[in-house]
Amino acid sequence: MNIISKQPNTGTTIFTVMSKLAADYGALNLSQGFPSFNCSPKLTELVNFYLQKGMNQYAPMAGIQPLREIIAQKNQELYGVSYNPDTEVTVVSGATEALYAALTAIVHQGDEVILLEPNYDSYAPVITLNGGTPVYVTLTPENSYQIDWQIVKSKITERTKAIMLNTPHNPTGTVLSKEDLNQLAEIVRDTNIFLISDEVYEHIIFDGNEHWSLCRHPALRERTFICGSFGKTFHVTGWKVGYCLAPKLLTDEFRKVHQWLTFSVVTPIQYAFADFLKEPDNYLSIPDFYETKRNKFLDCIKSSRFTYTPAQGSFFQCVNYQKITEENDYDLAVRLTKEIGVATIPVSVFYHQKNDYKTLRFCFAKDDETLEKAGEKLCRL
Ligand code: PMP
Ligand code: GLN
Repeated sequence: MNIISKQPNTGTTIFTVMSKLAADYGALNLSQGFPSFNCSPKLTELVNFYLQKGMNQYAPMAGIQPLREIIAQKNQELYGVSYNPDTEVTVVSGATEALYAALTAIVHQGDEVILLEPNYDSYAPVITLNGGTPVYVTLTPENSYQIDWQIVKSKITERTKAIMLNTPHNPTGTVLSKEDLNQLAEIVRDTNIFLISDEVYEHIIFDGNEHWSLCRHPALRERTFICGSFGKTFHVTGWKVGYCLAPKLLTDEFRKVHQWLTFSVVTPIQYAFADFLKEPDNYLSIPDFYETKRNKFLDCIKSSRFTYTPAQGSFFQCVNYQKITEENDYDLAVRLTKEIGVATIPVSVFYHQKNDYKTLRFCFAKDDETLEKAGEKLCRL
């Protein structure tokens, strides 16, 4: 048999590679982004309750009504921006599906999509699978990964279909400001460019920073697909439940992809989230919880030779290792896993040309003991 591949990317991610390497070598796994601790017992009790109650058949295509309503209500309360739960909120199988469906809804053969790299690994393969071309704006640690919006503007052509944003940002831990939103609005004004905003770390934000969801700017709201995930917020990355908020016109197209991709999302878990979200403390407590984790990790590596700027959000901390070795970041990540017993992600994998800024990404969503043990090993380098 012969198959002509539609997808130039490999389909294997660094996250699974490093997690496997960590397991093979018995290393502490600070690579792939997932918590080492369990979710709230209240949440598992709720899932159990709805499983036993028999909520085990197909949910409606857009998601169960109570969940769509509480998502809309939460967005209204937090950001003062309303979405119609019937026509503008869709529950999907994780943010990965939201990103896929949003891109597939809008990208046609020959379209360009602007990516700010380093960027999460799923964006580019979906663009190319749809016949589009990623156009990159490169952010660097020398510049604290700040976005020069004039450079973004210079990449816009008549083929530009969308710009993808991610705040809080994986892997760099940076966040967009209100001023970033204003500048973005300025450059897309008078264009037909869509925005896809990956906000899965919306509640993992520190030091009093506010989450500037793109929906908070009225002109941006009208052209944006907001992609969210309960996996990050509630320590359940394996449940794969997320959602997309978008104006009706965009949601109509989004749902045409979702209908034929997964159609509907795991029912008992949707009911559990609908109840769990009724108690705001369940998500309002998350920034403090993760800020404490970040501080714990930074404390554990404070006598190491790594240099870093504390992450403003996400559950990742990037560090520069130039004072330790000249190795490239990929080789170092493999060696640290095999020889030192700590697995990390080399940040070059988030650049399309694998730029090596001697930077590693650590996931600090780990129990304190794991962070302490990792810190001890890292401080010996
Ligand atoms: N976007 C970013 C920036 C992520 O870090 C992740 C998850 N790891 C996702 C999207 C995917 O989220 P989900 O697991 O809900 O599909
Ligand atoms: N988002 C997670 C990370 O950045 C990984 C998810 C995945 O394995 N694809 O580590």
